[in-house]
This record gives sequence, structure tokens and C-alpha cells, in this order.
Amino acid sequence: MEAQLILFIILTIITVNFVIERVLDYLNRQNKKHDLPDELQGVYNEKHYQKSLDYQQTNDRFSAITATFGFAVSVVLLLTGFFGWLDIQLRDWIEQPILLSLIYFAALFIASDLLNLPFQLYQTFIIEDKFGFNKMTPRLFFIDKLKGYLLTALLGGLIVGTLLYLVMELGAQFWLYFWGVATVIVVLLNMFYTSIFVPLFNELTPLEDGSLREAITAYARKVGFPIENVYVIDGSKRSSKSNAFFSGIGSKKKVVLYDTLIEQHSEEELVAIIAHEVGHYKKKHIISGLFLSIAQIGFTLYILSLLIFNEALSQALGGQQLSIHLNLIAFGILYSPISTLTGLLMNVISRKNEFEADAYATSTYGGGPLQKALKKLSAHNMSNLLPHRWYVFFHYSHPPLLQRLRAIRRQAVLSR
Ligand SMILES: [Zn+2]
Repeated sequence: MEAQLILFIILTIITVNFVIERVLDYLNRQNKKHDLPDELQGVYNEKHYQKSLDYQQTNDRFSAITATFGFAVSVVLLLTGFFGWLDIQLRDWIEQPILLSLIYFAALFIASDLLNLPFQLYQTFIIEDKFGFNKMTPRLFFIDKLKGYLLTALLGGLIVGTLLYLVMELGAQFWLYFWGVATVIVVLLNMFYTSIFVPLFNELTPLEDGSLREAITAYARKVGFPIENVYVIDGSKRSSKSNAFFSGIGSKKKVVLYDTLIEQHSEEELVAIIAHEVGHYKKKHIISGLFLSIAQIGFTLYILSLLIFNEALSQALGGQQLSIHLNLIAFGILYSPISTLTGLLMNVISRKNEFEADAYATSTYGGGPLQKALKKLSAHNMSNLLPHRWYVFFHYSHPPLLQRLRAIRRQAVLSR
């Protein structure tokens, strides 16, 4: 009885989630029918604007199809007790419990990736290609995939293996110890992301000598940021979309510019973008984000410790006995309403941080070049200029362009 109730709750959660997403998509589509406000005139020319609407519509349709497919597959797998069935099959072959769980997750990971493969191929080689963004060859796509598999097997295996070991050795107390392990992992990943993980997929090079480096050096010296920590990444080998990001803590900190960004923007705009990224560093967004995610992990692990040994969770997925891996899957879904809420909170904080980084760039360098850079970036990446405010609330880690431009302009007026 309890197992059936849990299955019912799980199905309700994924259904409600699916419906909410469809409603948000609908609102977002409707919102595009509004005229562009004055501030956004001139971001696109008329022809380019039509093309960007076409691009967004294609992506909207495509993501609605993949989401519906994913939802249908999940419902069928849950109703048929597939997850429990797979557990029963593997138990005939593997006795060691940690190995059993790892092979179980590996099998699910490979199956779900193969199921998603046609969608990934379509998105990259049909949609992104049609709109001129894709620069990836099929060869690079599969090399990336192979590397991703190896990395998942190595890191994922190590992390999940450690979790399972602690669960089996320590019982419900595991959460506190694994929290410690997870904290070390998160800090290390943060520190070594650009020195170990990014180079597996891309080439990072120091900014070469020339007038751009001189312009950035002048700014960097003024605000006290070491120019040696500015890097260029060869994003152009996969996509013509452009971006920049800040990563790392302490001496490992880096501002990374995409080569596609350097191609697209004037020197003045590039310094403004650097100023924005340096703003994230100066306002301590990286460190505070790190603390928040560590706190979040601890909370999640504690809730997990309350459910991990509950046999009804395994039975809800069709299992015949308590399986830690079945319970982890059930927990993943049961916990998702809470993780949606914490995700919303993280997005609220992230959008606030973006405004702060813009404000920092405006006061230390200038609002004019930053506005130009943001407009050009939006146009180049064919971003949606008129997202619905609920869609933004749920999904955007960055404020929409219009709000950012208005905030920058307000600040410029106030400081005059
Ligand atoms: Zn930012």
C-alpha cells in the first residue's frame, strides 16, 4: 500500500512538473507577439530579428517534443516497474552491492544517452547548423561524447562509489561524512575546473600581445586584477555563439573570453565585458555561490538519509527488496519539488549578482560600452528579447537584456 502511494506521488510530481513547463513555454511564446520597446530598437535589423524569432520558435518546438518524449518514457518505465525489473535481472549476475549499484547506474546512463542521441544529433547538426551556429564536425561530436563517458565513469564512479560505501558502512550517519567528501570535491572542482577539465575539451591560451591586451591591462591595473589571469578559449571549434565567464578561487581565478567574442566585439566592449567578469570576483560571487551550494548539498544529503533505507521506495519502482540505487532514483524524483525551490532561489541570487557585476563594470569602466556589448551579444546569439516574466523567474540565471540596459542607464543617470 505504502509503495503504491509513493508511486502515485512520484507520478504526480513528474506530471505537475511537465504541465508547469508547458504553461511557461506557452506564456513565453505569447509574449513575443508584443512590439519591441524603444530601448531594444536597433539591437537587431528587421531581417535579423525575423531570423532570431524563427530560431527561437524552432528551438521551442524541438524542446517541447523532447520534453514530451522524456515525460512519456518516464511514465511508461514507472508504470511497468522497469527500474525494479532491471534491479532483479542484475542481481542474478552481481552480488557485490556497490558493484551492483554502479553497474545499474551505468546501464541506465548508457540507455538514456542512446535514447537521447538522435535528439542531440538533430539539435547540433540540423537546427544549430541551419541557423549558422554549428561548427562541430561529427568526428568532434563523438570524440566529445567518448571523453564525456570516460569522465563520467571515472568521476561519477568515484563519487557514487564513495557514497554507496559510506551508506553501507555507516548507515543513516553517512550523510555527515559524505557531506565532508562532497565539500572537498566541490572546492577542488571549482579550483581546477579551468586547469584540468576545460583543457580536456578546449584549448586555453593567455591573451596574446597587442592593443586588446594593452587596453585590458590598463583597466586591470586600475582595479587591481592580475592580467595574467585573462585567458582565451577556442569556443569556435564547436559553435559560433560567444560568451565569457569567470571561474576559480584564489590564485586559480580566471577570466575566460571566447575567441568568437573577440571576433565580434570592439576593444572597448571587450574591456566592459572583462569589467563585468571582474565584478563577479570583486563582489565575491564565486565564494558565496560555493558556500550556498555546499549548504544545499548538506541539506539534500540529510533529507536523503531519512529515506535511503525505506524499502517502500524500492518497491514503488517495482523492486522486490531494498536497493540503494532504486531508492536514490526514487529520492531524486521525490526531492525534485524541493530542488526546484532551491533552484529558483539560486536563480534569484544569480540575477541579483548579474546586476551587481553590471553595476561594477559601469562604475569602474563605463555604462556605454557595456550596453553596446550586451546588445551585440544578444543579437549575435539570437537571444529572446521578450521573455515572459514567469519564464524568467523560473529559468533565467541572467536578467533579460531590457532589464539590464535599464539598470545600467539608471545608474549612469544617478551618478551624473
Ligand atoms: Zn555575469
